Parts: sequence; C-alpha cells; structure tokens
Amino acid sequence: MKILLVEDERPLAAAVVRVLADAGYHLTWEGDGRKGYETAMREEFDLIILDIMLPSKNGWDILSDLRQARKTMPIMMLTALEETDDKVKGLELGADDYLPKPFEVPELVARVRALFRRDKVNKSIVTRIADLEIDRKNRHVTRGGKLIPLTRREYDLLEALASNEGRVLSRETIQERVWTDEESYSNTVDVFIGTLRKKIDAPFEQKLIHTVHGFGYVLKSEHP
Ligand code: CA
Repeated sequence: MKILLVEDERPLAAAVVRVLADAGYHLTWEGDGRKGYETAMREEFDLIILDIMLPSKNGWDILSDLRQARKTMPIMMLTALEETDDKVKGLELGADDYLPKPFEVPELVARVRALFRRDKVNKSIVTRIADLEIDRKNRHVTRGGKLIPLTRREYDLLEALASNEGRVLSRETIQERVWTDEESYSNTVDVFIGTLRKKIDAPFEQKLIHTVHGFGYVLKSEHP
C-alpha cells in the first residue's frame, strides 16, 4: 500500500513516515505543496495524507485540484486549525477524513487502517448492467466506457432504478426514494426519466430504461 505524505513540518513528517513504514506501508514524503501535488498526479497512491498550511500550494488547493483531475484515492487532511469549518470545507472538497493536530500517532495509524478498509468496500460498489457502469463511490456513470455527466437528481434516479435491476418500480416508489427532501410534482418522475433517457439510452442502440404503462419504470438489459 503506497501512501503519499505532504507535510512541511520535518519532525512531524519524520515521525509519521517512521510509524506508517513500521506498520507496513510504503511511504513517499513531500515537504512542498506544489511538489506534493505533482507527485500525486504522476504516481499512483492508495492514500494521501495532506497538511493544509504548506509552502507554494496549500492543502485545500491540492485536494480540490486532485478531485477535479478525477483522482479518487482516499485523502486525509491534517490541520493545526481546530475549527469545525475546516472539516466541513474538507469534506465538501472531497476529503475522506480529517485529523486535527496535534494527534497521537496510534490514532493516525488507526485512521489510516479504517480508510483503507472503507476504500476497499467502496471500490467494490460498482453496478454493471449491460455496458452501463455506475460507480457509487464517485457517483460516476459510464456507458460503453464513456463518462455520462448527470445531475444529482438524475444520478439518484438512475441509482434507484439500477439497484432494483429488473424490478418494476412505481412512480410513487421512485418519487419517495429520490425526492425525499423536497417538493415534487405528479409529473416530476416522468420529466426526469425523460432527461435521463436522453443521456443514458438515446445515443445507444440497446435501451435500458423501460416504461411499464400506467405503473412505472424498470431498468433492465434485454440481452443479459
Ligand atoms: Ca504545515
């Protein structure tokens, strides 16, 4: 398991490297933000541990640029700033965990192990139906290997259908599952099915979303 540590405090970095290497991980250390970012882009890592206050490029920018570049490895943020705002910001930008400094080293090791466990579980959560692939960890959808950008609602709708592959879902059931937190209208489901079809089915010969008249919809492959 390869870990990249981007941390400019030498004594802290040395301690982290030592402890994680002892725990059996392969460590790469960068003390500079920009270099850390470049290393993360160039090489494959299973985890990145990222300080926030860094020379030349701060941890927030590194995190956000890596996620923009569709780098999906788990990222743990370290910070001396003990404000909960930071945690919220980090999680919004796509951090997987957040460890305030100062921390106890065993705590770090436990968190690293937990992240690896979680990542392993998440990685297995890919649904495939014909040539459609839904990656639940990253909420990415591809068909025939091509990324299909979906809005949050369209994604939720597709996931609701896909997790019930071959089962007909009524409009009411879909509405309850997908529009849990906001008002929706009687034709909302139909409207969103329409936009989803344009993206998922229209460009392809094999249609996956099927209408069950007077009832609802089903996602299935006709040639299993
Ligand atoms: Ca720092």
